[in-house]
Amino acid sequence: MVVVGARCAGSAAAIAFARAGRRVVMLDSAGFPSDTLSTHLLWPAGVAEVAALGALDRVRGLGAPALRVAYAAGAGLVVRAPFTAVEGIDYAMCVRRTGFDAALVDTARAAGATVYESSRVIELIREGGRIAGVRAVDRAGTAHEVRARLVVGADGRRSTVARLIGVADPYRATPSGRACYFAYWRDRRPEWRDIAAQWRDGDLLGTAFPCEDGAVLSLIQPPVRRGPRTGRDTERRYRDMIAAIPDLAARLEGCQLLGRVRSATDIVSYFRHSSGPGWALPGDAGHFKDPVTAQGMRDAMRYGRLLGECAAPVLDDAPALDRAVSQWEHRREQECLPMYQWTNRLARGTEMTPLEVQMYRTGATDPVLAALALDVMTRARTPDELLTPARAAKFAVQALRYSPPAAVAATVVQEIRDNATDWRERQLARWGATLTRWIPAAPR
Ligand SMILES: Cc1cc2nc3c(=O)[nH]c(=O)nc-3n(C[C@H](O)[C@H](O)[C@H](O)COP(=O)(O)OP(=O)(O)OC[C@H]3O[C@@H](n4cnc5c(N)ncnc54)[C@H](O)[C@@H]3O)c2cc1C
Repeated sequence: MVVVGARCAGSAAAIAFARAGRRVVMLDSAGFPSDTLSTHLLWPAGVAEVAALGALDRVRGLGAPALRVAYAAGAGLVVRAPFTAVEGIDYAMCVRRTGFDAALVDTARAAGATVYESSRVIELIREGGRIAGVRAVDRAGTAHEVRARLVVGADGRRSTVARLIGVADPYRATPSGRACYFAYWRDRRPEWRDIAAQWRDGDLLGTAFPCEDGAVLSLIQPPVRRGPRTGRDTERRYRDMIAAIPDLAARLEGCQLLGRVRSATDIVSYFRHSSGPGWALPGDAGHFKDPVTAQGMRDAMRYGRLLGECAAPVLDDAPALDRAVSQWEHRREQECLPMYQWTNRLARGTEMTPLEVQMYRTGATDPVLAALALDVMTRARTPDELLTPARAAKFAVQALRYSPPAAVAATVVQEIRDNATDWRERQLARWGATLTRWIPAAPR
């Protein structure tokens, strides 16, 4: 089988197929080690995926500190909590993509995958209504053909495989209300080195995640309407936004900016059709969420691995393979949709609502609620389990003590509307999954 793209999703799929004894060819237009446009916080569930791939020793060897405490501040309130362990991992990590992705590629090679770097896939081979391989060009401009029973398009948001198959237009999409501006700083604050921290101030959101080489990554997510465009003044405006979050500015006091400020704007979260005869799209190629909840790398690795585990045993049986990849796609959708919806709410670019403030107020003194909120990020619980109707009603009543009734009422109405829309979307997705079990997908 052939994997296009060798980072989180591609390497994970390649490792799983190779471990199952399958011959794997993986191509990437990039060479490794190399960076990609992404911040890189991994919650414990993401670190657990690294461990499941057999790459944890390599990744830990890069030297990023274990982040054992989560810290969330907003409206003058601070929620601080340790992580509940996921598969025995009770820490988050923030490892630069250059070393992280190379560690995954090395693990895939060690598992038996053949990796071609600097090889760009430009065409798909079709045979009898199926995708049967790829054509690629290497750095010297020489064309190569790789035939395969399954083509795994793990080639990211601008997926060539998705475009060539004709599924590049998502069937579900939400433009983000926030943009991303981030940079690394020389960290001079040893007391913060094991803390993954986030601040909300007005409509701004900022983070500080310690990473390797004594650096700390700080990401600012302003609402798109007031975010700076890229250009020569990006650094000045990035610094202005940090200054507008005084507690983050205090965290970075004495730290020195390293390198340039990078940005990602016009972000859209989506699901694309991700499986068909002879093909599948794990990672961002098939599904993407705004970085505000930092879930993308974990989901890319997890569903890359699960794709390999479910498809490897049936690779020689085309109907069984098509059923397996279709079921894999629906599983990913069912499991990721609640987090997609939660992420879209947080990515709206609005100020904290009275209900959110009340949640922070309660979480600041109630370790059970703080742990529950963190479990949503580590995927041990769903957002529905956090903001149950009973809890939301209680927060609303309590919020009346601090916020004008009209503001509380507006949040409650918005909450009810969101819940209804999200519930309907989840039901439709469930029915869609049931229907496709009976009606085979048409070749694309
Ligand atoms: C600004 C930003 C911040 C983020 N922050 C976080 C975070 O903190 N935590 C988190 O978990 N996630 C984060 N994400 C999401 C995360 O970056 C992605 O979900 C993750 O990288 C997806 O991995 P992937 O393997 O699917 O794709 P990618 O990492 O995009 O890799 C795709 C690979 O495919 C290769 N490729 C593309 N086209 C071809 C072709 N035609 N032929 C051969 N190779 C090809 C590319 O060279 C690339 O190496 C962030 C994303 C953004 C944009």
